[in-house]
Amino acid sequence: MTTDLASPSVLLIYTGGTIGMIRNPETGALESFTFEHLTRHIPELKQMRCRIDSIQFNPPIDSSDMTPALWVKLAQIIYDNYNQYDGFVVLHGSDTMAYTASALSFALENLAKPVIFTGSQLPIGVLRTDGKENLITAIEIATSKRPDGTPSVPEVCILFQNQLLRGNRTTKANAEKFNAFKSHNYPNLADVGVYINYYTRRILHRQAGLPLKPHFLFDTNVIVLTLFPGIQERIVTEVLKTEGLKAIVMKTFGTGNAPQREWFVRAVREATQRGMVIINITQCLSGSVDMKRYENGRQLLEAGVTSGYDSTVEAAVTKLMFLFGHGYPPEEVRRLMNQSLAGEITLESDLPLQQEATLDL
Ligand code: ASP
Repeated sequence: MTTDLASPSVLLIYTGGTIGMIRNPETGALESFTFEHLTRHIPELKQMRCRIDSIQFNPPIDSSDMTPALWVKLAQIIYDNYNQYDGFVVLHGSDTMAYTASALSFALENLAKPVIFTGSQLPIGVLRTDGKENLITAIEIATSKRPDGTPSVPEVCILFQNQLLRGNRTTKANAEKFNAFKSHNYPNLADVGVYINYYTRRILHRQAGLPLKPHFLFDTNVIVLTLFPGIQERIVTEVLKTEGLKAIVMKTFGTGNAPQREWFVRAVREATQRGMVIINITQCLSGSVDMKRYENGRQLLEAGVTSGYDSTVEAAVTKLMFLFGHGYPPEEVRRLMNQSLAGEITLESDLPLQQEATLDL
């Protein structure tokens, strides 16, 4: 890799995923390969006018094997190398990329440099791979500066094909297409074409000069419960009483509605009174929870359920793990779930800005 110290610099962190996989000739399955394999297949990296160093997970993993312990490892790598690089590119399998990007958006408080996640649907060695373009574009974005010399995108993002998305707003929406990710409730931070168009007003503005404050604790006593017509009392009540469980991300209908059955509302109320944090997010792909809109939502509010606004599942789960990891009591967790820590939810006060941002698409 280039070693010109005056050039912009990027640290490439290779965790695994399809981008670096190779087909096992005997089984036909895709298996992880090393970082050298990547660079061999993308000689263009040498032409980029920046210093690229790399670190790789050993062994590289399929992102289905990602864990909070590995999120912490990633946060530690970024923290340890923070002053040496202009930006960071994390190569990661797409399957759980949105979880890791969300977790890091909370773990890296006061982040003032780009952390760009990318990967691919086809391995680098394959002729039609999307990995090459994704990697090169991610490096360009990670080292891009505004005219005043500050980074163009000082946040945790996901770059896939031609879209730069806020990491904690993103969901994997397609298992096959190159455009695998969607951010249903927040507009793109940049569009990639002949030029990379950054939408500066959509990008997080942090208070300047604050040191990066990493967080290394996640509490996994969290579960996702998706409601559906016919869901059984026995199963719901068992889940709500699970020993040690601290929080539930409840995926409800429409704007945050749930059955009005007496047993359901009672079980929810008893759980929240015991200190369980229940976050209401919608099963719809886009839009926000508003529990005051229908009686079926209002009863949840009265039973102590907390709105998750327009959060993705990935952001709600990782934020709960992060907040409980800090040892906050349930009341404080509920209060912070209703605040935007890293741009992960749209509060009513943010709406005018978001609508305006959507207009300059
Ligand atoms: N199964 C792979 C992973 O998430 C898929 C990918 O890399 O996109 O690690």
